[in-house]
Amino acid sequence: MIIVLGGGPAGRIASVRLANAGVAVTLVESSGIGGQCLHYGCMPVCALNDAARFVRASRLFADLSITDQPVLVRFPQMQKEMHAIQQKIAGILDKETREAGVEIVYGKHGRLSGRQAFIGDEPVESDAVIVATGSRPNVPKVEGVDLHGVWTPHTIPALNNLPRRLVIIGGGVMAAEYAYIFSAFGSDVTLICRSAFLKSLDKHLRPLATSDLADVEIRENTPLLSIEGCSEVTGVRVGGDGGEVTIPADAVLIAAGLVPRSEAIEGVRKGAIGEVVVDDHMRTSVPGIYAAGDVTGPPYLTPVARHEGIVAADNVLGIDRAMDYRFIPQSVNLGHELAFCTTQSGTAASMAMPGLAGPGTFWHVPSGTTGLVKVMVEPDGKISGVCAAGPGGGLIAGYLAFLMKEGYTAHDFEEFMEVHPSTDGVYGLLKYASEMLKRRGAG
Ligand SMILES: Cc1cc2nc3c(=O)[nH]c(=O)nc-3n(C[C@H](O)[C@H](O)[C@H](O)COP(=O)(O)OP(=O)(O)OC[C@H]3O[C@@H](n4cnc5c(N)ncnc54)[C@H](O)[C@@H]3O)c2cc1C
Repeated sequence: MIIVLGGGPAGRIASVRLANAGVAVTLVESSGIGGQCLHYGCMPVCALNDAARFVRASRLFADLSITDQPVLVRFPQMQKEMHAIQQKIAGILDKETREAGVEIVYGKHGRLSGRQAFIGDEPVESDAVIVATGSRPNVPKVEGVDLHGVWTPHTIPALNNLPRRLVIIGGGVMAAEYAYIFSAFGSDVTLICRSAFLKSLDKHLRPLATSDLADVEIRENTPLLSIEGCSEVTGVRVGGDGGEVTIPADAVLIAAGLVPRSEAIEGVRKGAIGEVVVDDHMRTSVPGIYAAGDVTGPPYLTPVARHEGIVAADNVLGIDRAMDYRFIPQSVNLGHELAFCTTQSGTAASMAMPGLAGPGTFWHVPSGTTGLVKVMVEPDGKISGVCAAGPGGGLIAGYLAFLMKEGYTAHDFEEFMEVHPSTDGVYGLLKYASEMLKRRGAG
């Protein structure tokens, strides 16, 4: 019997993998199957982003006098409809998992003490355990953080009314995505970043992000000192170069990243932020105990969690398999998908151009907001990076990341035939890069 603790992307996919191989698996999930991705993360953010883009598109069309008036969002109704769809997806995941042969135990906390697993207080026999208890929002320990009106991605499903003035704490992807959403819905949004905003984003993508957030006040290098109010939030006190100031707010959203959720996991080696330490086979310091997903620390991404789950399951099955963290595609979803997969290369030449006119960008031509494409190519033609900021950017970056891992070169794209119309400019830049490299070689 294999015990899997946590039914998020890592644990669920690991369980199904094991069950498909004919092994008896019990999956323990204390809350809802699908984990943060379905209930608090990727899915709700993409649902809200769809509505935000729709609102902004309606404004653009109204400004061009193509339609009569922009649409307005009914926020409580949206939250209700979104929740119903999340429950429907959870039902599908539950069915799919059970049909694979996994036994699911809901509503109980799994626990680990060295080699011994527990379901609730009951010790259970196991041949191996996969720990996939995920992560939770990183909440800074400042005064006022417990006030009514302070939200996190885990509590925001209960937000019923749009705040008039919203302060978002965080300078990363999550904070940027919420800022885009709430400003589109009409909230007056201020973003508080402890250091630089989206500091690890490609330098060509960052200006696109700030342009999509043009109506958000972004305060960089601004430490959060406290959240003000008696029982309800009234403001946020911040420091920084300009001295201490209070920013008025009706609501505060803490979107300052995630931390591993490992308090129920004892007796295995952990790192500085509580992450369960694993090797590239997802083995912990205790033989027979594996861990996968956010509980092992960053990067906190669903595809990484899923992949780690599969690697852990395969090793439990005796299949020797290691994780490969090269070429991980990612995106920031604002007005378009700002998708990318880049590596640190000192030798690559990079080429960039504005996004093409086509489906999803045609009406953005006058404002010059069609996005961007960029490729990074090594002297031997190997592709070492791509940015695809535009409709479908995430799909392009995902497939390109795979081709990069497989060692494809710009020259391989000479025979590539695109679908038209589409806004994919990556293949064109790669064809151009191939031509340039050949000409340089010939000269
Ligand atoms: C707002 C937000 C936006 C995000 N956007 C993206 C995105 O766009 N793209 C992307 O790739 N990633 C995104 N993520 C990250 C993504 O959600 C996570 O990386 C992914 O869910 C990790 O999967 P996991 O299985 O490791 O953990 P989790 O999804 O955290 O699942 C862990 C599960 O374990 C359960 N659990 C915890 N403790 C126990 C216990 N003791 N016993 C039993 N069960 C337990 C939990 O209830 C949960 O269901 C986002 C996250 C957030 C919060």
